Amino acid sequence: MVRSISVLGATGSIGASTLDLIRRNRADWRVVALTANGDAAGLAKLAREFGAEVAVVADEAALPALRDGLSGTNIHAAAGASALVEAAARGADVTVAAIVGCAGLAPTMAAIEQGGVIALANKEALVSAGDVMTAAVAKHGATLLPVDSEHNAIFQCLAGNDIAHVHAITLTASGGPFRDWTLDQLERATPAEAVKHPNWSMGAKISVDSATMMNKGLEFIEAFHLFPVGVERLRIIVHPQSVVHSMVEYRDGSTLAQLGPSDMRVPIASALAWPARMHTPCAPLDLAAIGQLTFRAPDETRFPATCVARNAVIEGGAAPATMNAANEIAVAAFLDGQIGFTRIVQSVEAVLARALLPAPGCLDDVIAIDAEARVRARELMETAI
Ligand code: NAD
Ligand code: MG
Repeated sequence: MVRSISVLGATGSIGASTLDLIRRNRADWRVVALTANGDAAGLAKLAREFGAEVAVVADEAALPALRDGLSGTNIHAAAGASALVEAAARGADVTVAAIVGCAGLAPTMAAIEQGGVIALANKEALVSAGDVMTAAVAKHGATLLPVDSEHNAIFQCLAGNDIAHVHAITLTASGGPFRDWTLDQLERATPAEAVKHPNWSMGAKISVDSATMMNKGLEFIEAFHLFPVGVERLRIIVHPQSVVHSMVEYRDGSTLAQLGPSDMRVPIASALAWPARMHTPCAPLDLAAIGQLTFRAPDETRFPATCVARNAVIEGGAAPATMNAANEIAVAAFLDGQIGFTRIVQSVEAVLARALLPAPGCLDDVIAIDAEARVRARELMETAI
């Protein structure tokens, strides 16, 4: 049976991995909407290849180029934040939410409101909206399937089990490119060094998040919402090989883990085909060649981000959305050469310390918290902390 699919963030790393799988199984899918930020030429090329109904750029200045790129086709071109939401609101059997950052929140919520399957890569949206998003999923009968490799692993390890029997959920973390660096070295880390992830090839923002370990902090909050076992049952362990993608320990002492190659096409395929399975071009693991799998406790002195995130989710209210927004601004400032590496998490903590807004009750509240935190974070980028 042909299923319809929309890819929000089609030109990114997750978007490319998703479309690679669709390309290999072209007859199984009908493409509804493809979106991008400003890469009109890249988006037009994909929209033509996949015969999308609509192509949307977030940046309105890119609309003429998008129209140019789509001339001679009947693919509808649109631009701007509300066009993104409208594209997502067309509904599809599967919507892959792969925009980076809280910018993906409103379109993801629009897709959730149509019911259907949401294959969620855009962890920042869930971290920021938390209960607002999970309540919308329940209200509209949508199915939220995690694409983030750790959460997809946990989802697979939970299948067929009652979450009430879970003793602990352990997220694995590669530790990122600076895993073994000293604090002194971290102070001098450059953007080029931070985006060079040892195991995964990803967008710039998540690569920096992996280097600070804020990615694992965001994932901790993501897991809190996806798998309601309580903060005290959520753990993080450093596993440099990124072969075990996460684990679930049950009350009887059994631990189930999901293993696989470090290729996002594996968890994306799991979400696209769920509850069935589909073929991927990824070579299966060669454990004899890998030889050793190692594990160690995280070092929250050198990498305080996971502690900041744990405290934010315990505090609740506006804290997770504030943390996420401040991090987005700080990562962008670091990538621009405006602040040093260790100032990323320091400035997130500083913004959190001054957060004032109450807990969000709806999407607009989340967007207001996000906006306020961005203003505060930008102010901090201008001044020494
Ligand atoms: P990326 O930077 O490669 O791609 C981001 C996509 O979002 C692009 O299509 C871009 O055009 C679009 N975009 C960027 N800013 C936008 C805006 N303001 N408005 C609308 N669209 C915008 O990022 P990525 O690595 O593909 O990551 C996407 C999401 O998936 C992130 O939330 C990331 O944390 C998550 N994720 C990624 C990976 C990975 O391996 N890349 C793994 C797990 C989770
Ligand atoms: Mg992950």
